[in-house]
Amino acid sequence: MNIKITELDHRKGEPLPFQVTLDAAELKNRHHEIRGLTPVTVEGDAVKLGNLYYVKGEMKADIDFVCARCLTPFTQHASIPFSETFALADDPQIEEDEESDIHPLEGDQIELDTLLQEDFLLAMPTFPLCEEDCKGLCPTCGVNRNEAPCSCKNERIDPRLAGLADLFKDNN
Ligand SMILES: [Zn+2]
Ligand SMILES: [Zn+2]
Repeated sequence: MNIKITELDHRKGEPLPFQVTLDAAELKNRHHEIRGLTPVTVEGDAVKLGNLYYVKGEMKADIDFVCARCLTPFTQHASIPFSETFALADDPQIEEDEESDIHPLEGDQIELDTLLQEDFLLAMPTFPLCEEDCKGLCPTCGVNRNEAPCSCKNERIDPRLAGLADLFKDNN
C-alpha cells in the first residue's frame, strides 16, 4: 500500500488512518532468527503538519524464535510501534541537518510496505531470549538450567584475568 503525498496535502492536517497486513513469508526470509510468524497487522495514520509528513502506528504479530541461550522454542506476542518523518527531497530541513531522521520523499508517494518491513526487521532481536534472565544450558552437562539445577562448576573467568587464575593454580 502506498500513500499519495497529494492526498495528505489535501487533508490539511487531518490524519489519514490506514490498515495493512505485511507478508509473513518475506519477513521470515529476511531475518534468520525468525522461525515463523503470523501475518503482521499494521494500524496507523499519516498526516502532514507544516512541511513534514508523519507516519506512525503499531505492528502486531506472533513471532516464533528459538532462545539463543537455552535453545527452547518460544513465541513472542510482539507489538512494535513505528514513527517516521518525511519531507520533500528539496526541503532545506533535510540538508541542514544530516543527522536528522527526516527521510527525503522519493516520488509522489510514501511506500508503506517497504518502510514498515524495514521497521519490523530492525525491531527483531539478534539474540532472542525466552526470558531476559534465561539461565541457558550448562556448558558441561548440557542440562537446561531453567528447568533443573546441576552441580557442575562452571566458573566464568574473565579472559583478562585468566592469566592470574593460572598463576594461582601453579601455587597450589
Ligand atoms: Zn532461554
Ligand atoms: Zn551441568
